[in-house]
Amino acid sequence: MIDKLKRFGEVSENVLLSKLTTLKIGGPCKAVFYPFDVIGLIAGIQLLNNENIDYRIFGHGSNILANDEPYEGVIIKFNRSINSTYILDNEVYVEAGASLVLLSDLAMKHSLSGLEWAAGIPATIGGALYMNAGAYKQSMSDIVKEVLVLRDNKLDWISGAQCEYGYRSSIFQEHPDWIILAAKLQLKHGDSEQIKQIMARRKQQRLETQPLDAPSCGSTFRNPKDHFSWELIQKSGFRGFSIGGAQVSMKHANFIINTGHATSSDMIKLIQLIQQSVKEKYQVDLQLEVEQFNWTKKSQ
Ligand SMILES: Cc1cc2nc3c(=O)[nH]c(=O)nc-3n(C[C@H](O)[C@H](O)[C@H](O)COP(=O)(O)OP(=O)(O)OC[C@H]3O[C@@H](n4cnc5c(N)ncnc54)[C@H](O)[C@@H]3O)c2cc1C
Repeated sequence: MIDKLKRFGEVSENVLLSKLTTLKIGGPCKAVFYPFDVIGLIAGIQLLNNENIDYRIFGHGSNILANDEPYEGVIIKFNRSINSTYILDNEVYVEAGASLVLLSDLAMKHSLSGLEWAAGIPATIGGALYMNAGAYKQSMSDIVKEVLVLRDNKLDWISGAQCEYGYRSSIFQEHPDWIILAAKLQLKHGDSEQIKQIMARRKQQRLETQPLDAPSCGSTFRNPKDHFSWELIQKSGFRGFSIGGAQVSMKHANFIINTGHATSSDMIKLIQLIQQSVKEKYQVDLQLEVEQFNWTKKSQ
């Protein structure tokens, strides 16, 4: 199967998911497949389906808590080839494997405003569209005009409204078999110097308030209605608390960092303890923002 897959893209075998996630946790997968192009992707997926092999698209792996157990499937990544960007006036056509950080930089250089919030979010466009990534009260949903989706063996452009965007949610989360290939974004003409300054301020804010020197996957929990997760976690006494190598950051209590040797089990135990304590103290259910990958009921 691997030899056939190599006809359609680059393939690396037996890769640790800890190498593919910003949290640096996760066991081995069968292979990572980097399709040469969209046709290579379609052919590769056909092959995997024929052979009954599970697969999952990863972006930058910045919102994924992978299990340490082996994953008997293939991870598909677009960053090496399906990553072009084209700018036409104030519209941006961008493929799913492009980097959100680089795109926000490029938009600034073209005097286009609307992506300032994205400076410093280590995501691909595909992952950002899937999560409706956002910050500073803005998100992808504000700029998405259309998304090119591979679903049911067909390519469809769906409108921003059809993406059913909400707070860190989208229709794509209901359909994990849909593959996001590209998007058309609408930005506004602006002043590149002003845009640059806003981006520099945002980056500085992140540096001051987030533990960017340690592996993490950003905010662990979604903010519940009328609350900030970091505040509930901090007030529950978890700031700096650790289980094994998983630690609630001293800088931002909604970030759980990997201090070096965290296992997936350390992470999940800490997550569950926080959820239980916050529930007991504040009667609030903290929902995960980070996505668990390759977990079974038995493994948690
Ligand atoms: C330091 C740090 C800071 C962060 N700050 C923020 C922030 O300010 N705001 C914010 O919203 N998030 C933030 N995050 C979280 C994370 O960056 C976002 O959730 C981001 O959108 C994930 O993108 P990704 O490319 O890494 O996706 P991944 O984590 O690789 O994947 C996430 C999900 O998207 C799916 N997916 C990815 N690409 C595709 C595709 N092409 N087609 C279909 N499905 C796909 C995956 O299968 C998976 O289900 C932060 C993370 C870190 C580590």
